[in-house]
Amino acid sequence: MTTTRAVHARSLVDPDAFWAEQARRIDWQTPCEQVLDYSRPPFARWFVGGRTNLCHNAVDRHLAKRAEQPALVHVSTETDQRRSYSYRELHAEVNRMAAVLLALGVRQGDRVLIYMPMIPEAVFAMLACTRIGAVHSVVFGGFASVSLAARIDDARPRVVVSADAGSRGGKVVPYKPLLDEALRLAQNPPEKVLLVDRGLAPMERTPGRDEDYLAWRERVGGTQVPCEWLESSAPSYILYTSGTTGKPKGVQRDTGGYAVALATSMEYIFCGKPGDTMFCTSDIGWVVGHSYIVYGPLLAGMTTVLYEGTPVRPDAGILWQLVEQYRVNVMFSAPTAIRVLKKQDPAWLTRYDLSSLRMLFLAGEPLDEPTASWIQSAIGKPVVDNYWQTETGWPIIALQHGIEALPAKLGSPGLPVYGYDVRIVDEQTGAECAPGQKGVVAIEGPLPPGCMSTVWGDDERFVKTYWSGFPDRQRYSTFDWGVRDEDGYLFILGRTDDVLNVAGHRLGTREIEESIASHPAVAEVAVVGIADPLKGQVALAVCILRDAGRAATPQDRMALEGEIMQTVDRQLGAVARPSRVVFVGALPKTRSGKLLRRAIQAVAEGRDPGDLTTIEDPSALAQFREALQG
Ligand code: AMP
Repeated sequence: MTTTRAVHARSLVDPDAFWAEQARRIDWQTPCEQVLDYSRPPFARWFVGGRTNLCHNAVDRHLAKRAEQPALVHVSTETDQRRSYSYRELHAEVNRMAAVLLALGVRQGDRVLIYMPMIPEAVFAMLACTRIGAVHSVVFGGFASVSLAARIDDARPRVVVSADAGSRGGKVVPYKPLLDEALRLAQNPPEKVLLVDRGLAPMERTPGRDEDYLAWRERVGGTQVPCEWLESSAPSYILYTSGTTGKPKGVQRDTGGYAVALATSMEYIFCGKPGDTMFCTSDIGWVVGHSYIVYGPLLAGMTTVLYEGTPVRPDAGILWQLVEQYRVNVMFSAPTAIRVLKKQDPAWLTRYDLSSLRMLFLAGEPLDEPTASWIQSAIGKPVVDNYWQTETGWPIIALQHGIEALPAKLGSPGLPVYGYDVRIVDEQTGAECAPGQKGVVAIEGPLPPGCMSTVWGDDERFVKTYWSGFPDRQRYSTFDWGVRDEDGYLFILGRTDDVLNVAGHRLGTREIEESIASHPAVAEVAVVGIADPLKGQVALAVCILRDAGRAATPQDRMALEGEIMQTVDRQLGAVARPSRVVFVGALPKTRSGKLLRRAIQAVAEGRDPGDLTTIEDPSALAQFREALQG
């Protein structure tokens, strides 16, 4: 029997043979001459000389066998619309979009920036770009002008594709004014803007620059646009990483390596088969959306569900209603969405027929044990944590149920995935850590196919940022803390850049958060390290309670704070005890659900919280300030 560990070992011992085999999962116009070129580390080139096309593999290739199968199902609970596109219809729409982009002057290698809500045209635009060899850069629809302008200036797109508006929680969010402002701020604005008018918000149009997609769609009619066969390492897209200050980092993805990596992951990790349905609740603006709303399921000949809406509208059963209605087999979400559901009536979880669903995959942030066990028992399906980053494009650590059904360990995403030579190393020396000893999660080069090939336009930054963190040798740093147990299962303990140092003791915020989250009153918690004149840093905990009434009076708050401190004392030791616990109704997060730790930290330390363009709910910081004073 093949085991996960054996497949992993083989992928590292003989990567050429392993990946040559996986490369057969996709169509190549010209096969590669060399599987891997690592003559210029850390720059890896996969399937050198091979020519392929992502759009061909995601769409055209399936026309022979599954032209009438739904390829893309769009559901918007925001606009109350549902629409399904078969592979044949998707092919036609992508051709139209590709013809429009060509008509607007986009050529192979040109960038196209996509600033769109979760509507089918966004997916058409992505696929149309890869069809003609243009490089897309999707910017999350909720980003505001300054972030958008920075990305425009870095990617220098020939065309921006956008829409009048998005909608969130029933509230229309006009995009066009944000885009206009971004174009005004940008040093290098594009000549053309292609606009999808959803009829949600009025748009002012700039003559000569702003073009109407529907009018162009009519004009190009049924034009067929051939796929451009690209050398495997030609860039397919740029995706900017969120969260850090300064100039955004454009993660550059290749073409052939990405297609092979995703196709392989669809079988080995996600157990998705042609004809199955996948529902990933992420957004196309994030890497999870790129890989597992758009490319992964389509490469595998599956039906993908594109959902515009929240997990609690019109009610907290909506995700499960969609599972029932579309007979979803593979679902992918984020712990944050599950924690939102945790605060709702659990009856919603058993109201619908979930018999089609095999597994629920969760990624993007640490999956805390209470949330994992809660959702697993609530829906009665295996929950598969998987750990990865924008940079890698697909999971680094996960249980690989398509290879072997290994038991999960709560709190661990599982074992290293084939292709990744994951090491836990000492931050100072680079020496490998023993089981049980905490270190940095690092990856020995070369990174497997599909991972970032460089930082867009800045090879030096790629090397400096990711490959220069250890004194002994060049190695990729994930900037995450981790630990390996005796069985080889890995546990992620938070970002190395969010480390707490309390009186010389290094503590992971994640460890403290897990401990606090085990208190029955707590729904969600964030822990940050804040400056302390005596101990260097102390931990501050910001909690959302399951029942806000538990902290109604100052006496209640004090009592609960004491209980929580005791919980931490008991589980981790007094050294990890937060110096303060404050209670809020919402945590400051990005729209992708990432905690804005630095902003929390800054406010707690009385500093300017800095760039807040990505914040989901600006009132969360004000609430936090108030709670701190209270
Ligand atoms: P992003 O590039 O925005 O997807 O963020 C990647 C980071 O999110 C990683 O470096 C981790 O810090 C965190 N992350 C993603 N998935 C997981 C997971 N399954 N468990 C723990 N942390 C995760």
